[in-house]
Amino acid sequence: MEGGPTSHTAILARSAGITAVVGARGAAALAEGQEVIVDAASSQVIADPGPEQLAEAERRIEQRSAVQAAPVTPGTLADGTPVPLLANLGSPDGAQHAVELGAEGVGLFRTEFLFLSSDRAPSVEDQTAAYTELLKAFPGKKVVVRVLDASADKPLPFLTNDEEENPALGLRGIRALLAKQEILEDQLTALARAEAAAEADVWVMAPMVSTVEEAEQFTELASAHGLKTSGVMVEVPSSALLAEPILQRTGFASIGTNDLTQYAMAADRLLGSVASLQDPWHPAVLRLIREVGAAGQVTSKPVGVCGEAAADPLLAVVLVGLGATTLSMAPAALAEVRYELSQHTADSARAAAAAALGATSAAAAREAAREALATQHAQ
Ligand code: PEP
Ligand code: MG
Repeated sequence: MEGGPTSHTAILARSAGITAVVGARGAAALAEGQEVIVDAASSQVIADPGPEQLAEAERRIEQRSAVQAAPVTPGTLADGTPVPLLANLGSPDGAQHAVELGAEGVGLFRTEFLFLSSDRAPSVEDQTAAYTELLKAFPGKKVVVRVLDASADKPLPFLTNDEEENPALGLRGIRALLAKQEILEDQLTALARAEAAAEADVWVMAPMVSTVEEAEQFTELASAHGLKTSGVMVEVPSSALLAEPILQRTGFASIGTNDLTQYAMAADRLLGSVASLQDPWHPAVLRLIREVGAAGQVTSKPVGVCGEAAADPLLAVVLVGLGATTLSMAPAALAEVRYELSQHTADSARAAAAAALGATSAAAAREAAREALATQHAQ
């Protein structure tokens, strides 16, 4: 598959539970019927594996099945610290399955997925119906809805300007919505109506916020439409570095590690040739996440992570160590993340985070976290 590991084709594959590796050099040379091991966890495709590699792959498949079959419980660290595990969804269709897999709510509802093919802004009525259907699957639970995130990889013809030369740096996310405020206001109206028609606890958030003023403006608009909990996504370095003043002005932050990695590493998330830089384990990205976690603690505001990083079980532990209070992911990833969190205490998670922060590359950070957790276990 072409593209980066967090391009939307990859996200859709993950949400359908399909094992996928992107940008694999030499994949086109594989012959029909050739035996391969596709190891998405280590981003490798092994052609013509030997007996030992096959045995190891089978052992891991069995281990994975055992974890998938374990009872569904709320996300909790080994010391009892709760870490609610939420689902990333792009349509109400997947809601029931997410509940069955133990989602404790929704941490990211990508509303733009509902309207990717329309050339007109969706009506308040259509939106109210779609959001109400979603909310009804989560009575009494938190559902975080992101307002339309038009962007380079998710163009919405009624919001985006396709003449921009560099749409990843253009009028996208909250900028596009504030430029066409009536579209944002219609969406907030629809959300408030859906909230009134269902029993879920609706949180609303703005994508791609890069300034304190945008956070303020969005929070005021959401509140004027009767939505009681509003917050922002932290997906660009500026908002990570300004997380404290931003959190003083809004209700919560949700870290979008896909874009945060793209912008911190200056590596297009759609481009296979720079896919190796699109790695949220990079200490540069982890340091930005640490800023947001610390700001959450100072302001006593929740800090979630809803990028693909939260679906990597080992990185999930590190994210908690950096201050994440909830994790949201494709429902297919819930079981493995739940299992890994249950193996470590908050102190161990902080030790793993400190070890990863001290590394100088993504690979070294992953190894340092793994070693720190193994040492904590041995004690
Ligand atoms: C992100 O950027 O991490 C994110 C969750 O948003 P999206 O992948 O939809 O851009
Ligand atoms: Mg994003």
